[in-house]
Amino acid sequence: MNITSSVQYLKGIGPIKAEILGKVGVFSINDLMAYFPVKWQDRKLEKEKDLNDDFQDSYVFFGKIQSIKDLYTSSSLRIFRAIISNGAQEIEAVWFKRHNPRYDVFSQIRRDIKPGIKIWLVGKPEDPLFKFKIRVEEYYLETDERAQRAHINRIVPVYPLTDKLSAKFMRSAVYFSLLNYAQELPEALPLELLAKRGLLTAPLALKALHFPENLLELKRAKKRFIYEELFLLTMAWAIKRRQTRNIKKGYGYDLKKNILTPFKEKLGFDFTDSQKTAINQIFKDMREPSPMSRLLEGDVGSGKTVIAMSALLLAAENGYQSAFMAPTEILAEQHFMTFEKYLKNLPVRFEILTSKLSPVQRKKVIDKIAKGEVDIVIGTHSIIEPSVKFKNLKLMIIDEQHRFGVRQRAALRHKGEKADMLVMTATPIPRTLFLALYGDLELSILKDMPPGRQKVETSSVQEDTAFKETRIELSKGRQAYIVYPIIEESKVADLKSVKEEFEKVKIIFKDYKTAMLHGRMKSAEKKRIMGEFLNKKIDVLVATPVVEVGLDAPGAAIMIINNAERFGLASLHQLRGRVGRSKYKSKCFLISNNLTPDARERINAMCSTSSGFEISEKDSYIRGMGDVLGIRQHGDMDFKIADILRDSDMLKKAIEDKDELLKNDPNLLKRENFPLRRKLLKLYQNKWNIIDLT
Ligand code: ADP
Ligand code: MG
Repeated sequence: MNITSSVQYLKGIGPIKAEILGKVGVFSINDLMAYFPVKWQDRKLEKEKDLNDDFQDSYVFFGKIQSIKDLYTSSSLRIFRAIISNGAQEIEAVWFKRHNPRYDVFSQIRRDIKPGIKIWLVGKPEDPLFKFKIRVEEYYLETDERAQRAHINRIVPVYPLTDKLSAKFMRSAVYFSLLNYAQELPEALPLELLAKRGLLTAPLALKALHFPENLLELKRAKKRFIYEELFLLTMAWAIKRRQTRNIKKGYGYDLKKNILTPFKEKLGFDFTDSQKTAINQIFKDMREPSPMSRLLEGDVGSGKTVIAMSALLLAAENGYQSAFMAPTEILAEQHFMTFEKYLKNLPVRFEILTSKLSPVQRKKVIDKIAKGEVDIVIGTHSIIEPSVKFKNLKLMIIDEQHRFGVRQRAALRHKGEKADMLVMTATPIPRTLFLALYGDLELSILKDMPPGRQKVETSSVQEDTAFKETRIELSKGRQAYIVYPIIEESKVADLKSVKEEFEKVKIIFKDYKTAMLHGRMKSAEKKRIMGEFLNKKIDVLVATPVVEVGLDAPGAAIMIINNAERFGLASLHQLRGRVGRSKYKSKCFLISNNLTPDARERINAMCSTSSGFEISEKDSYIRGMGDVLGIRQHGDMDFKIADILRDSDMLKKAIEDKDELLKNDPNLLKRENFPLRRKLLKLYQNKWNIIDLT
């Protein structure tokens, strides 16, 4: 037997338990040892001081059984009680079992629990303050030394469990497999790195992670695995990136300018220096022999759409198909309208593809795409559905990339293996985080804004003040957004809802045209309202955060955000970015209540700075980023133990070490790097399509 053998051959497991373990993904002995605890309990009589959040409360008692009271109750419950003393203290231990007419549920307990015998108890005090009545969860006889080693008088692991998987069983199984097999665990990390970073070796770390002797050891074990996960991730990205560079796409681009030039003329403004630089970088990438993989990062309103359009048009000029994917239907619609505005009468065919098309329309568009009768497809996730087959897809652009996950990016990539890819985001990402999340991408940053933009004046006010100011702006012909966090009133949370507040707003602004916009409205309705807002036929738009991403209504100069305390810093900044998109002075009002210290910090940050890059340096921004970047929702980063937001210092070290290692051994061909190579392939070969390492 070795670590790859099935768990069913381990002592005390067998085929039935092996099947139960299979349900949680544990098949081999190696899997069992790699089943990481989520928490720990300190089951020593003298507990360690300063137990941190990793620890669950646990009550442990060691004493001699004094007397026994076997109780039979009238209900379906049976109760067994014993009085136990450790000399200084006497407690009542209580066992509960569901009554079973077919056998004595306490037969084992009655055999074990006899006066004069010494036992260990683990359980829950009936009353947390007066610990003299204990509901027993586990007990161990003093004579059962083998069991004690894994379960008692030490720190024990707490695993994610299922119905049929008991804590005690799991703990024993892991304990005894570690005892016999931990030393066989291959060391994936180069020894030199372990020494340099002071990390435990794999077998030691694994033992210490499950059954640490003390807090310090647990900390060291975690450190080792956090490092390992981050190091492998950054290695995988780097290799992936190198491989993309080695792919030959086998087609080229000519700058014909037959569409680009008239498009530029129609725009009616000059590109900013940042936009020019970005377009140059993108065009250069597109004309390279290997596919482009680039991230364009630019604050809200910095003008990313026209950059994307330039690239899409370059593809169209060369007779290639391209896709432009946005996270929401509303945004896709808006992009479509922008295309209509700027590309009228130019020789370029574009279509919109969202889930809201009727089956007939949808089929028509899909057919056209397959036949190559569309140059540019603008749409939502619908574009990545398997039924959509391009004839000649050469360029893919993802807007608001942070709303998608790595997997969706991979799915789009799959549509055009050798195609160029550009992803765009308004979310400034700290450098290390960028490398962790997008380590396969090159980066372009838009540093300046289109000319004439004014700072959006932001303040935290009461509703009446916000409405008064809104009235003033409306009278000057400006438009306003009023955002509420939810669509309909809900009993669970004390939040203002669009539907309810809209009735109020309608009356307050009765001399203006008001409308409502939220995600649950019919597609055509949404489209009509958006179009009317963009064309200034609507003055006040009452909406949910569906307007958060990308919307571009230059006439809007007021943004009111209700229940601002509920939004993360990045979302607030995005919402604010819907105004201040023209030469008009714009204002953003944050209305909030029940401010937690964290929420207050966010609101203050919003009021004191307007730059997304400055905001991105705030702690609460980084803390809230998991949600914004979709790290959690998309399950991209299915780390077992690392957290890229929390462990950014460790990530920095891992990145440094990765650079150094790849410099010395780019293809991991040195003998000492074989285990690392094997581990990388195992983890990432299928996941991210890292095809080979040569
Ligand atoms: P974002 O980067 O947030 O996606 P958009 O692409 O929506 O920003 O652009 C915001 C607004 O700025 C749009 O109305 C766009 O037409 C305008 N714009 C973009 N570039 C320039 C420029 N160089 N000069 C003037 N206005 C511009
Ligand atoms: Mg945009």
